[in-house]
Amino acid sequence: MIIVCPECGAKNRVPEENFFQNPSCGQCHEALITLMPIELNEQNFSNFISHSDLPILIDLWAEWCGPCKMMAPHFAQVAKLYPNVVFAKIDTEANPRLSAAFNIRSIPTLVLMNKTNEIARISGALRSTELKEWLDQQLNAQK
Ligand SMILES: [Zn+2]
Repeated sequence: MIIVCPECGAKNRVPEENFFQNPSCGQCHEALITLMPIELNEQNFSNFISHSDLPILIDLWAEWCGPCKMMAPHFAQVAKLYPNVVFAKIDTEANPRLSAAFNIRSIPTLVLMNKTNEIARISGALRSTELKEWLDQQLNAQK
């Protein structure tokens, strides 16, 4: 499987059985699976989305959005449970063209992507249990 390094963007080939052994980047030696949400922006988005073999769950948020802030710790908490999903955040204010491309009507909106295909999306703040339930449903539907 190809995992894109959250630190430097290098593409790393990692066998699936090594996911739980803390694989690190061949280029910058940072951890490839951080179990923490990473920042995507207009500069690194297309590299990630087109090369990562892992599904990517994107939280589209903004600094002024109360529900977004409420959901943030829940999103981070659920990220720890899924080494096989990249959790990412996009600041919609800082990345207007990227947010426009998602055609979102409200934030927070979560978008689950597999390569460049959108698999599912859901709007509104979710608690960790709701988020986990929704994500499990989407991932199971992919199998
Ligand atoms: Zn790296």
